[in-house]
Amino acid sequence: MNETSDLSTQSEQPEQTESRGTMLDVSGLTKIYPDGTLAVDGIDFTVDAGDFCVIIGPSGCGKSTTLHSLVGNLDVTSGTISLDGTDITDQPTHTRDIGLVFQDFQLFPHLTVAENIVYGLEQMGLDDQEKRRRTERLLEMMQLEELADRDPEELSAGQKQRVALARSLVLEPKLLLLDEPLGDMDYKLQKRMERELLRIHREFDTTFIYVTHDQTQAMRLADQIIVMNDGQVEQSGSVAEIYNSPNTAFVSAFVGDSN
Ligand code: ADP
Ligand code: MG
Repeated sequence: MNETSDLSTQSEQPEQTESRGTMLDVSGLTKIYPDGTLAVDGIDFTVDAGDFCVIIGPSGCGKSTTLHSLVGNLDVTSGTISLDGTDITDQPTHTRDIGLVFQDFQLFPHLTVAENIVYGLEQMGLDDQEKRRRTERLLEMMQLEELADRDPEELSAGQKQRVALARSLVLEPKLLLLDEPLGDMDYKLQKRMERELLRIHREFDTTFIYVTHDQTQAMRLADQIIVMNDGQVEQSGSVAEIYNSPNTAFVSAFVGDSN
């Protein structure tokens, strides 16, 4: 009602931290594998549009199961997944507008770098000009132009990871999931790829959920951190919240490991 006070409230919000609203809303997500393993135990979390969200937690805590549930590779046992307000829990993978980059790249060995990147576009019904535009943009962004006609087996690990990222980003998904994408790289290459990822996240203006068991990596990359343990979310918050005000003894010990 009072316009003056509305305006003054708005002007107090710094533009950089202004939320663009919730993109992903996960509620009660549970996954029990056929052998009875309870891998994800009723987790709730949200991710804001445009954020670089990092899920951390020890090996076996359910990080990969969570990502594969989001992308639709796994049928969930219960719970709901909403993307931009639409319930996608039972939607087929290819209609979800969510990309996934695997740790082991999973490039097609019989296709060149450029063919790997264009592959996913063939199913989208785009015209040739648009396919070429998108592919050339990604080759340029990932500094892969020189390697466009090479076979994947000729590439280094860092180059393969760039192709894997390009292959997902060319589809322009709303949300990109990355499952320990730098896991097999040496420390120097990891640091370089981290800078690349931050640049790509910014330039593409997209939303990332990045999984790692490395808390120092999380600290360098994240807008939001979700800490998982034993199939559950221990805490979700900004880097500062997680490190300065851990909610549980587990979070305190896990993030404390990096000091
Ligand atoms: P993370 O990615 O955090 O290491 P995962 O999601 O891979 O954890 O695994 C969570 C739990 O589910 C672990 O106990 C793991 O052994 C189990 N698990 C993973 N995949 C399967 C499967 N296909 N069948 C049965 N149990 C599984
Ligand atoms: Mg995993």
